[in-house]
Amino acid sequence: MKEDKKKVFIKNFGCQMNVRDSEVICGLLKNEGYEFTEEANTADIVLFNTCSVRQHAEDKVWSEIGRIAKSRKRGESPSGRVPDKKIIGVIGCMAQNYKESIFERAANVDFVVGPSDIQKIPAIINTLLETEKKGGESPKQGESPRFSNERKIWETDGGIRPEEIYHTGFYEDKEHAYVVISEGCSNFCSYCVVPYVRGELHNRNYKDILKEIEEAADAGITKITLLGQNVNAYSSQVNFIELLKLINDIKGLKEFSFITSHPKDTSSDLFKAMADSEKLKKYLHLPVQSGSDRILKLMNRGYTRNFYLDLVKNYRTIVKSAVLTTDIIVGFPSEKEEDFQDSYDLVKEIQFNAAFIFKYSPRPNTQAANSGDDVAREEKERRHGLILELQKKISKNKK
Ligand code: SAM
Ligand code: SF4
Repeated sequence: MKEDKKKVFIKNFGCQMNVRDSEVICGLLKNEGYEFTEEANTADIVLFNTCSVRQHAEDKVWSEIGRIAKSRKRGESPSGRVPDKKIIGVIGCMAQNYKESIFERAANVDFVVGPSDIQKIPAIINTLLETEKKGGESPKQGESPRFSNERKIWETDGGIRPEEIYHTGFYEDKEHAYVVISEGCSNFCSYCVVPYVRGELHNRNYKDILKEIEEAADAGITKITLLGQNVNAYSSQVNFIELLKLINDIKGLKEFSFITSHPKDTSSDLFKAMADSEKLKKYLHLPVQSGSDRILKLMNRGYTRNFYLDLVKNYRTIVKSAVLTTDIIVGFPSEKEEDFQDSYDLVKEIQFNAAFIFKYSPRPNTQAANSGDDVAREEKERRHGLILELQKKISKNKK
């Protein structure tokens, strides 16, 4: 236990996986005696759990870090404490993407921890607090941490997370919990940074997943969302469909669902399991990404437009009141008007309940980043606007 309880502020950027990672970190810190605050200004420790999936997501984080840096410089502090003593950590996908070079761009950051090293965060904060107590020098603004890194720590080695971190019982919501079933991804879609920042696919042992859900149900959780970048590729003594059946039998659990599914790993057997499992929500998020076979191939998605259309037909035949949502990227390198039209027509034909439309953003290390970014920004915006408008009308009619 700390003598005076230190307050942690954690700001989340990005997907549900990050929401769950932030809870895991909060659970670990709570066990060490830390408290939480909604106010960055009065916090002793500020954590940014970051996203790298698109440039826009990263820009938001850089500007937020800059804002905190400015308030430190001006000495703003409603509590009257010395703002320079605030410990700032950048964690998650950007941490892994930029590693210790983050210190060069944001000298006010004290530590950097990638998604596979989050269990180390409590020890890192303890070390920094101890250094501070002993009067350890903080590098000056703009000073390169490589040469003055007494207070700079980075952990981006990766590896497999220890199972215990999922069992602190910390969930933001009293009724609903996210449960990670697999970490990372080995699909290497050509546009996607996830395999580089979250590592290759690792499936948690099914007994550990069931144990976590049983513990949550005992604590009053009645709804679960299973999480993974590609949940339906799950395999660890039992496959994904067998796992769904085991979860359906857990006492106290009333409803569950899963995200995200990859079309290449989706089959009618999954739809039958969805129809047969009374607690499983009849909801499928099945990102198609493009309606053009040429672009799907360049994206390394592993399926064709017709394969996807057949899946949807089977899903809607087998699962009654089936809800279907998707993700689409416009402006992928070399996407021509006819490729875009294929995506537009697919959205019109399928009539999704909802669709998330993204403008292609080149990501470091990815295969597609080598092909340039040859669709002009204005053209990406036009294509984005057209599908968005179409989907708005479809969603309205579906209500
Ligand atoms: N694993 C999930 C999947 O395969 O759908 C989620 C991956 S990502 C976190 C969520 C969505 O972001 C993707 O489905 C894709 O549409 C979009 N996305 C990923 N990389 C992108 C990029 N470089 N530019 C634009 N959108 C991207
Ligand atoms: Fe990225 Fe593709 Fe893996 Fe989804 S399936 S996380 S888009 S590499």
